[in-house]
Amino acid sequence: MIKGVYIHIPFCDKICTYCDFAKMVAKDDLKIEYMQALVRELEYFSDLTAKSETVYIGGGTPSSLQLDVLEAFLKELSTIVNLDKIQEFTIEANPTDITDDFLKMLRKFNVSRISMGVQSMDESLLNFLGRTHTKAEVIEAIKKIKDNKFDLNLDFLYAIPGQTEEMLLNDLDFIKKFNPNHISYYSLIIEDRTIINYWINSRKVSDFSDDLARDFADIIDRKLADFGYKKYEVSNYAKEGHESKHNLIYWNVEEYIGLGLNASSQYNYIRMKNPKSIKEYIEGTKKHALNMHEIEEYNPKLEIILLGLRKVEGFNLDDYKKRIKKDVFEVYPILKKHLDNGLLEISSGNLKLTDKGMYLANQVYLDII
Ligand code: SF4
Repeated sequence: MIKGVYIHIPFCDKICTYCDFAKMVAKDDLKIEYMQALVRELEYFSDLTAKSETVYIGGGTPSSLQLDVLEAFLKELSTIVNLDKIQEFTIEANPTDITDDFLKMLRKFNVSRISMGVQSMDESLLNFLGRTHTKAEVIEAIKKIKDNKFDLNLDFLYAIPGQTEEMLLNDLDFIKKFNPNHISYYSLIIEDRTIINYWINSRKVSDFSDDLARDFADIIDRKLADFGYKKYEVSNYAKEGHESKHNLIYWNVEEYIGLGLNASSQYNYIRMKNPKSIKEYIEGTKKHALNMHEIEEYNPKLEIILLGLRKVEGFNLDDYKKRIKKDVFEVYPILKKHLDNGLLEISSGNLKLTDKGMYLANQVYLDII
């Protein structure tokens, strides 16, 4: 059963220096053509997506679309997915796009949650990352989102070249003060095709040390726990009852449909990926939407472990046996070694990483991949 729908809007007003996502700066004509293609793909999958429990519109920057273009798309979406029964409907937004009109329009379509890419509250780091918002704009946006009673996730980054402990502590103080109900706190991974990687390779910028990154991760875990957040996934923290239902679909290896440029879908024991080229994607939706997909390897017996161990509670051993028809230790006997060396443990019927295992998870993964 399809539990979630992901919709990718690849447009941004400006490209950040660390970004490796499927994104672009585009003219209005192309944006409109793309949104029409999305509607065609949505219609193609309408039978499968009608009863989705979650919708997540991500990017790129979905909020960078003109309001009437986004509204027209949400209207189409509401004729296909039953938005009255949806359990969680998230949209990603840039702080500078949060206006009263934007929020009012989202309310009409039962959007329940806004995920805002803040990354840091330090203006010099924001500048380095190529982000266009200021601290004052973030504060104003949070106030509006809270006044309008949306659930709020803030994305933050750590291990940014040049980031000091004082900068990190300031960001954590900011989180304490503004108290969103969900935080995604990612370590900045320098991907090959990014501007920061070019700066590092040409020695304009120094890479962040692994030891310091680990110290920062400890500080984040400790402080967020003090502020009342429960860590439930490697990079995600929530106030009680505010875990991301949509992201849990991925970590629980359940079925979802991804629409749009480079989006993945997983159902009926296959995983499919849409084209990376916007031209190919738009043309593909004019023909037979299924033919444009690339079929990817999907190996649930491995993925339930890899994604399940990302969750702090791990994955349930009985559920694994039910789905795979074999005990996990029969499929991967080597996992017993990690029970003995203290990287894994069994708790309440779940297999999970220990605190030590969270740091050394790669040792477990390398043995089973
Ligand atoms: S806003 Fe997000 S998707 Fe767009 S360039 Fe920046 S990091 Fe990439």
